[in-house]
Amino acid sequence: MAKKSIRDIEVTGKRCLVRVDFNVPLDEKDGHMVITDDTRIRETLPTIQYLIGKGAKVILCSHLGRPKGKRSEKESLRPIADHLHTLIGHPVAFSHDTIGEVPAKIIAHMKNGDVALLENVRFEAGEEKNDPVLAKAMAALAEIFVNDAFGSAHRAHTSTAGVAALLPAVSGLLMEKELTYLHDELENPERPFVVILGGAKVNDKIEVINRLLEKADTIIIGGGMAYTFRKLTQGITLGKSLYKPEWEPIAQAAIEKAKARGVKLLIPVDAMVTDAFDFDAKKLGNIKLAPAGVGIEPEWEGVDIGPASVRLFADEIAKAKTVIWNGPMGVFEIPEAAKGTFAIAEAIAANRTAKTIIGGGDSVKAVKKAGVADKVTFISTGGGASLELLEGKTLPGVAALNDK
Ligand code: AMP
Repeated sequence: MAKKSIRDIEVTGKRCLVRVDFNVPLDEKDGHMVITDDTRIRETLPTIQYLIGKGAKVILCSHLGRPKGKRSEKESLRPIADHLHTLIGHPVAFSHDTIGEVPAKIIAHMKNGDVALLENVRFEAGEEKNDPVLAKAMAALAEIFVNDAFGSAHRAHTSTAGVAALLPAVSGLLMEKELTYLHDELENPERPFVVILGGAKVNDKIEVINRLLEKADTIIIGGGMAYTFRKLTQGITLGKSLYKPEWEPIAQAAIEKAKARGVKLLIPVDAMVTDAFDFDAKKLGNIKLAPAGVGIEPEWEGVDIGPASVRLFADEIAKAKTVIWNGPMGVFEIPEAAKGTFAIAEAIAANRTAKTIIGGGDSVKAVKKAGVADKVTFISTGGGASLELLEGKTLPGVAALNDK
């Protein structure tokens, strides 16, 4: 899949339309929208600074929220232009239109190394429809298209796919890293390659399980989806734990595939269980351990892996040379049910000789909450996009980039 990046082409003096992910959380304060977490902006700074350093004309575009094709002041990118100015110490010209004369005029006045930001691409009705007319209007503003918005690459929108077909199209440095760690590195991983998958539902993760069964030495299954595997492999009762009869054949097929391919499938052996679970209120009732070999009682529900499972998983993680993790081991949003997930985050962080990759979504939150984010090799910025890439799917925003 090797795709060209900004390092593979001449960008000096060129108008580069850079699709970034500035979809940051905003809060209204005294009539102004204030950025509450600028991580996504910071993550794309290496690309922006690289292009400035090379003397490109950097024209940034992004979506923010879900304005559904209509202008909405609360979802304007203007506050982001101001914030970016302070982050890069370089003025950022803001275009209150995404396409047309307003940005064209601003761009005409740009010097090499200047930066502009276009208004929210989702103010344009054509954006989410991948409209060719909008794609043409966006392409008219630039000579090169750069995609650094990995988190949006699984969507075939105008600013991720349509415009890329009309210009030389390359990845930014963040996108390049995501593709390296979530794709290229996993084609030929250093072994043992241990995959840890968690989350609620078997059907949501089965494609990832199936695909990674073809690459991994060990697959560790945790979270809500593990109970179906426990019923099948340990024959225990599950009480009120997450389980659906229709997940059984899916899980069974994965168990058989693992056997046929000689992949070690590690399933939790114990669980922390509760007799009352209110996710919205983030509250549990009584909590106790359902030990190994013992079923979960009728009125009880598994909300986390137990200490024996943590030891089993941590031992395997310690021996790995490549680790990828997607999905929590339990209901980690509730502190009493977060211990297993945090213990796995710590086990991954403790293996300093392995390449450790945190593949998006809730596992990213867990690694940050556990305070070990700086001890892993790579943390993906994509949720849905990382999962689709791990499933082996072609992402429209990646497919649209030029091959090396
Ligand atoms: P996913 O989006 O499929 O990765 O699932 C993440 C969600 O699964 C998180 O919100 C967790 O709270 C939830 N989850 C993990 N383990 C369990 C469990 N044992 N019972 C219910 N929900 C769970």
